[in-house]
Amino acid sequence: MSRESLLSDYMDRVVERSVGEDAFHQAVRHVAHDTITIEKANSDYAAAKVMERLSIPDRVIAFRVVWQDDRGETQVNQGWRVQYSNAIGPYKGGLRFHPAVSLSVLKFLGFEQTFKNALTSLPLGGGKGGSDFDPTGRSDAEIMRFCQAFMRELAPFIGPNRDVPAGDINVGSREIGWMFAVYKAHALEFTGALTGKGLSFGGSQIRTEATGYGLIYFVEAMLGEQGDDLSDKRVGISGKGNVATYAADKAIARGAKVVTLSDTSGVLVAEDGLDADTVAWVRAQKAAGKEIADPPSGCGATFKEGDMPWNEDLDVALPCATQNELDGDMARALIDGGVRLIAEGANMPLTDDAHDVVSEAGMLHAPGKASNAGGVAVSGLEMSQNSHRRFATADEVDAALKDIMRDIHARVIDDGRQGNHVDYVRGANIAGFRKVADAISSMGAI
Ligand code: GLU
Repeated sequence: MSRESLLSDYMDRVVERSVGEDAFHQAVRHVAHDTITIEKANSDYAAAKVMERLSIPDRVIAFRVVWQDDRGETQVNQGWRVQYSNAIGPYKGGLRFHPAVSLSVLKFLGFEQTFKNALTSLPLGGGKGGSDFDPTGRSDAEIMRFCQAFMRELAPFIGPNRDVPAGDINVGSREIGWMFAVYKAHALEFTGALTGKGLSFGGSQIRTEATGYGLIYFVEAMLGEQGDDLSDKRVGISGKGNVATYAADKAIARGAKVVTLSDTSGVLVAEDGLDADTVAWVRAQKAAGKEIADPPSGCGATFKEGDMPWNEDLDVALPCATQNELDGDMARALIDGGVRLIAEGANMPLTDDAHDVVSEAGMLHAPGKASNAGGVAVSGLEMSQNSHRRFATADEVDAALKDIMRDIHARVIDDGRQGNHVDYVRGANIAGFRKVADAISSMGAI
């Protein structure tokens, strides 16, 4: 059977079992495209039906979150934790609070996380959770009450050896602190059942910065492979959260010109590159729930309402906002603008169409499961530090993060090299899949 017919048979079965879960299908199809023939060629993987097993999460915990807003009105949200696979370690992955969160989105994220975590070489399974709660316009007290109500429901299902959530979109160390307090009261013990904690209660240095810093370390490894580096490169970044702003900081420190940051209302553009103060201002605006449309005067940046970073002339594009943020037309605009390298800071930021455009152009394209693995990798280090009860310095964590990102890069190019070109998407899918498939097929039919 050809790869195309194996893939379409497989996807028919996946879609039948998860009707309407488009984002989930998209993520599964990408991985299956590169791994389905590898499974068939390996008698252990084939006998264990690894890919069919991986199309269904180990379990999904779905719950109601009831809380009171500042006016005393009862509010009701949906919450989930997708415990996707614990084949190689405890479930591990973030919590996302956003109105676009659905079971389909969390299943796609849990599926991706399973392979991403495998690529880090750390003993971490995959999971993801969250809620359709929208923190925009909510007071701090309301967000705290929501976090407490959410964790009241989730606490019985997590633990340091069972499932270790962390942050994701709209969940930072402040929210983790509020949720950790509820977990700790429920468990009657102090264990590192959440990562991304504050430094005073078991958090790791560099965890907040890790995804963004790790993304730049990965990009440097990609450029290094081409005998190049970041200095004077024009870098376009979308988003204004942790991933985007810490990637911007690190890129600037490495001599790049960071031309853009953005949000849903438009893009902040600085032809000569944003400076570190303006990046810090963006971060502060985001933390305060404010717009970035009115940058400080004299900072050299202007705001283009309704626009995207991808219309600028760039060498390097780093989509760091959210899934499917970059479509086929935007990918074409990037190519017209001279871009040579795309590395994903967000999870699955390219639509299928954009994927095809980028791959036909033969561009260097790192998928999030490789290039944004730095966040969860430092979460893995936080788990070890919690178990040892001994904490690493910022320099030690940063050095470990650099090593992990270089190591992921080396593993991905081993599986992704095709003549002179490196197919990073294929390399990441295969390297992540092999590790999980080895574990699953070693454990028999269970
Ligand atoms: N949410 C992050 C990710 O997408 C980090 C997860 C974690 O630290 O567990 O990988």
